[in-house]
Amino acid sequence: MMDIAVIGSNMVDLVSYIERMPKEGETLEAPDFEIGCGGKGANQAVAAAKMGSDVMMVTKVGDDLFADNTIANFKKHGIDTEYVVKVPGTSSGVAPIFVDKESKNSILIIKGANKQLAPEDVDAAAEKIKKCSVIVLQLEVPLETVYRAIDFGNEWNIPVILNPAPASKELDFQYVCKSDYFIPNESELEILTDMPVTTESEIAAAASSLVQKGLKNVIVTMGSRGAMWVTNEAVHVVPSYPVKAIDTTGAGDAFIGCFSHGLVKHGDVLEAMRKASAFAALSVTKRGSQASYPNEDELQPFLL
Ligand code: ATP
Repeated sequence: MMDIAVIGSNMVDLVSYIERMPKEGETLEAPDFEIGCGGKGANQAVAAAKMGSDVMMVTKVGDDLFADNTIANFKKHGIDTEYVVKVPGTSSGVAPIFVDKESKNSILIIKGANKQLAPEDVDAAAEKIKKCSVIVLQLEVPLETVYRAIDFGNEWNIPVILNPAPASKELDFQYVCKSDYFIPNESELEILTDMPVTTESEIAAAASSLVQKGLKNVIVTMGSRGAMWVTNEAVHVVPSYPVKAIDTTGAGDAFIGCFSHGLVKHGDVLEAMRKASAFAALSVTKRGSQASYPNEDELQPFLL
């Protein structure tokens, strides 16, 4: 048995740490630079694996120098790479990221091989995905692949966690409603609902509008304000853990990976959200996305 199938993206993060964002036409020197493994799917897989879940990854890499690095990184975290496929003649996914001194980030995405993750790749991995307790999806790969994975989850009674990131207006709501846990951040919620999301009551109203349209569970990550779980019956807010934020890159993925782990291990949504909040809070205290994720030993004292 496996715990979690993450079907989605991988990227190599090229992170420039800067004083401020450059203006149009301006050349700035960045005081610091780092290369890290990222991509929403890969981040979520690594977060769950760091918490102790058995994770398989279904993704595509290019045939450049980043591909072997990405596969080695999955293996280092004990993630099953049988369905990490190399695509000849294509670049791997790359994400140039700018983080300013207030820890705000701007991110460019070059999807590369991720664009070629097809519904057939889900079918090819079907026998192994069937052994998983949860399927985790994001939107950095073609939507038809996401839809195939949702159908697969429904067909085999495997709960589906859908992180609608980056937000896409083309997302078919019929499929969204087939997911079991829908986890946007505030800006994704705003784009998907066309509703304001400034205050918590506005966020609750926007999330409730999705529940009224047929979604079972909407969990909105709200940065330093924590996370909100909205269902037909109730609205729960899990506050964030107060920390000094250094770099919030990958915080949403940290939350989703750790939440998926909790859902598989004990199934208690609020408990999984609390642990995910702690995990994500610790991740913003360090630079990088995956590089900032704690392991269970680092997390435990923080939870006390
Ligand atoms: P990113 O796009 O940077 O990966 P996101 O916008 O998808 O992140 P957020 O909603 O910013 O995700 O953060 C996810 C979770 O991380 C939050 O719900 C919260 O639990 C935790 N978190 C984020 N920022 C902070 C912070 N400054 N302090 C404490 N916890 C935080």
